[in-house]
Amino acid sequence: MARKIKFFEQVNRNFDKAAAYTRHPSGLLDQIKICNSVYHMTFPLKRDDGSIETVQAWRAEHSQHKLPVKGGIRYAATVNEDEVMALAALMTYKCAIVDVPFGGGKGGVNVSKWKYSEDELERMTRRFTFELLRKNFIGPGVDVPAPDYGTGPREMAWIVDTYNALTESQLDYFACVTGKPLAQGGVRGRIEATGRGTFFGIREACEIKKDMQKLSLTKGLEGKRVVVQGLGNVGYHAAKFLQEGGAVIVGLAEYEGAIHNPEGLDVDKVLAHRKETESILDYPGAKNLAQTTDALELDCDILVPAALENQITVENAHRIKARIIGEAANGPVTADAAEILMKAGKLILPDMYLNAGGVTVSYFEWLKNLSHVRLGRMSRRFEEDVNRRILRAVEDLTGKQLPENTFNGIIQGAGEEDLVNSGLEETMINAYHQIREIRKQHKDEISLRTAAFINAIDKVAVSYMELGIFP
Ligand code: NAD
Repeated sequence: MARKIKFFEQVNRNFDKAAAYTRHPSGLLDQIKICNSVYHMTFPLKRDDGSIETVQAWRAEHSQHKLPVKGGIRYAATVNEDEVMALAALMTYKCAIVDVPFGGGKGGVNVSKWKYSEDELERMTRRFTFELLRKNFIGPGVDVPAPDYGTGPREMAWIVDTYNALTESQLDYFACVTGKPLAQGGVRGRIEATGRGTFFGIREACEIKKDMQKLSLTKGLEGKRVVVQGLGNVGYHAAKFLQEGGAVIVGLAEYEGAIHNPEGLDVDKVLAHRKETESILDYPGAKNLAQTTDALELDCDILVPAALENQITVENAHRIKARIIGEAANGPVTADAAEILMKAGKLILPDMYLNAGGVTVSYFEWLKNLSHVRLGRMSRRFEEDVNRRILRAVEDLTGKQLPENTFNGIIQGAGEEDLVNSGLEETMINAYHQIREIRKQHKDEISLRTAAFINAIDKVAVSYMELGIFP
């Protein structure tokens, strides 16, 4: 039987493949690739019934070439040291690809979240934060966690509160974690950022006629048939924005099952049905699939795995019908499966690029926290005033008056959400063209993943070379 390749090894295989196209010294490449620090902790949790349980958790800091390091915290029963290191490494490369000036980190707590009450989760999160602080694995300039699988704004609020309680009057304490609720220093647009970024990335790829022709697809997102696996934060928002952008969602998968309707599924209505019946199955007009993984093999143009890693493997890769695989989750396609898909002429939009929207907007949140002012607060009225004066001048010169709605629409200055979304759009479009250009320089013989890795390796290497090696 073939040996199961571990997640970090998969990431490193991809790294090595790309590194072979660069000219950096091998010692430097080793240093970039290795995970610099891993903190494995075990701590007790008092359950509501008074019993005591031990909890295992990790925080990995893959690269401190830029500080702070940044990366989510995952609550899942599958979390282990290898996974945390792999995800931390992906964060280093991801930040480099989207020009976010952070190193890569990742945290994980090995728990099935659903087994615990809210009070228990709060105690667990606060204790985890305490353990991180004890070893200097959290802080605005050191290591800044964010949400990931199984965590969200609620957990981030507990983290910031614990950090603040345990540190002495730190002016910038809000910047110790991102993905916080709005009233606790969060930024508008962060919750949906990864899904929105996924949408921007897929839309941009579909806009390039030449690339679409190679896939026997037409240019543009309009009418493209999409299947999404995982209706959590990333999957739900990606599906929703893709639908709003003109794509047709033909299949949706959750852990309890999957549904298919070639005519299209309304994402919000499916979610409401799931809330009401506690299952995605038996949605009116849709067919239930025998197994949830069957959704991955549905006839469609774009497949968006947005749940967990290792979903497309050598076992099912040759049955995937989608022409484009948009990796919204981290590591959903194994390295061997990616080879099979590439040979079959498919386009994989790699995770380290496609799901970088979350860290991009986390960066905006961190900047907001350090500057202690809501984005756009200082300029919005001023912009509106300038725009109003320009339009009035145009009206005076032409002698014509714009309808009030049009006038008000044009003068509007940018609020926080507008700035965040346009900053994210700009980032995702720029980054796509950077990696596509690298692929072009290699005569389109390499994958976008390899191109993305080359891009990241070059940027991290420049950082090391310019800073020099201490001492
Ligand atoms: P989440 O917990 O909000 O959602 C995950 C969803 O996947 C859940 O609804 C879960 O029920 C579902 N799921 C689990 N196993 C499944 C299976 N076998 N088949 C179908 N559905 C399944 O998590 P999330 O934050 O949306 O993260 C999803 C992925 O995206 C992870 O790989 C994560 O690392 C990655 N990611 C998340 C962010 C972020 O900002 N949240 C950023 C970058 C990458």
